[in-house]
Amino acid sequence: MVSGKLSEVGRALFRGVQGLGAYAHDTGRIALRGTRYEARFEQVASRVYLKWRAAVETAGLKDGVAPYWRLKGFETVPLRQWLNWKWQVKNAFDTPAKLLDALGIKYNKNSLVVIGQAFEQAEIDTFPMRVPPAYAAMIDPTKIDPAVIQELENPANWHNPELWQRLGDPIFKQAFLHPAELIKDEHDDADPLHEDHMKPAGAALTHRYPDRVLFEITGQCGMYCRHCTRRRKVDQPIPMAEIEKGLDYIRQHSEIRDVLISGGDAFLASDELLEAIISKLEKIPHVEVIRFGTRTPVVLPQRITPALTAMLKRHQGVKKLWLNTHFNHPRELENPESRRALALLADAGLPMGNQSVLLKGVNDDPATMLELVRRLVANRVRPYYIYINDLSVGISHFRTPVSTGLQIMKAIRGWTSGFANPTFVIDAPGGGGKIPVAPQYVVGFSDDGKFILLRNFATFDQTGEKGLFKYPVSGPADIEAVRQLLRMQEGA
Ligand SMILES: *Cc1c(COP(=O)(O)O)cnc(C)c1O
Ligand code: SF4
Repeated sequence: MVSGKLSEVGRALFRGVQGLGAYAHDTGRIALRGTRYEARFEQVASRVYLKWRAAVETAGLKDGVAPYWRLKGFETVPLRQWLNWKWQVKNAFDTPAKLLDALGIKYNKNSLVVIGQAFEQAEIDTFPMRVPPAYAAMIDPTKIDPAVIQELENPANWHNPELWQRLGDPIFKQAFLHPAELIKDEHDDADPLHEDHMKPAGAALTHRYPDRVLFEITGQCGMYCRHCTRRRKVDQPIPMAEIEKGLDYIRQHSEIRDVLISGGDAFLASDELLEAIISKLEKIPHVEVIRFGTRTPVVLPQRITPALTAMLKRHQGVKKLWLNTHFNHPRELENPESRRALALLADAGLPMGNQSVLLKGVNDDPATMLELVRRLVANRVRPYYIYINDLSVGISHFRTPVSTGLQIMKAIRGWTSGFANPTFVIDAPGGGGKIPVAPQYVVGFSDDGKFILLRNFATFDQTGEKGLFKYPVSGPADIEAVRQLLRMQEGA
């Protein structure tokens, strides 16, 4: 017990020192940029960092710092390269074999050849693999049973929940190309949200809601998440002409006050392109809010550079800039590089929200989600949505029942900060948009009809009158509204 506490304290201390080190490194880098001391500074910094890593490893505090030295073949990567997001993208793992080798997982090589052949012969479009070392480094190989790879040779096993379970690591499951992606489920659709039916001005712009648009400015992402809903077209380039068409449409439509810049991943665009688009939107009087959709704080935190956040800060205020990111598991917030990225963005004045996807075997249980939302708010990110997995082709092995989402919502409301509550939504197949699905706390009327009966967070699952609360009915409108809620419950 005592040694457990000591290592907790040690970890906190190590994290603090690491945070300071990263800050000093950033500050030094900016101060010396373009001077003749720059290269020397980087050399010294990476030497200090390597020593630090060795010390941490000796102390056995592996969780407390970015654990990238775990990756085979990356032990001596200099810090300045590791922190360079373009280097991360260039060195991303693009085959299952490369990822497994870097993780030191011993598997039957022939099995991957067999699975690879199944991919080559597939009739459905497949989605490329891309896992930056930064994300791969968070995978815990000890949780993965390598014997599964061999069992996946047999297509009858692809959808086997027990094998999915044995691929135990939630980070790994989001990154690893799994042959279950070759299965087309009965409800699957390439474009389940009908985004391609709602494009009034070229490929980049989707206009579904009255006052806001989705603006896809790049097909690139830091990682290609295996559960991606837009997997049909991620990785395809978006030409500048399409972006210009989208901007023209926004100029001509004064009802648009909120532009959601996404992709792909908005932050895979260069600083220059981002700034050019922001500057053009700034000149459109009716645009009030610009939002960025990016998973880089999770999968490629090196992208959140001081230069990028300084640029965003310069523009914050002319239009209100917001950001939505996509953490799915609390372990993703253990990465100090991710926490540093979030701190930089928050300090630049961007309010941040998080959109999670409910994923089987990753985060489909209340305890995991409760921990996730707590860690998000502790990093100044407000949980915004939890999505049910969309019906895109090839991701049915990730799909969870709607009831699981409702269980999760019950486990959050009341049990932690109110502002840590996301909205659970089904993005309706066929283009209906995001539809909230929530547990119902209204039970009915008291016997005398004068009160509305309510459950609270702690008494939700109790039966009978025990644990119910009352609020007075104020008139016929209340009665009708509550009856309507109850009819909806009956109908369900
Ligand atoms: C999700 C989405 C939006 C934004 O919806 P909010 O509920 O405002 O976050 C806008 N357009 C499209 C097409 C979307 O899918
Ligand atoms: S970052 Fe978003 S768009 Fe890109 S692959 Fe992941 S889920 Fe899909």
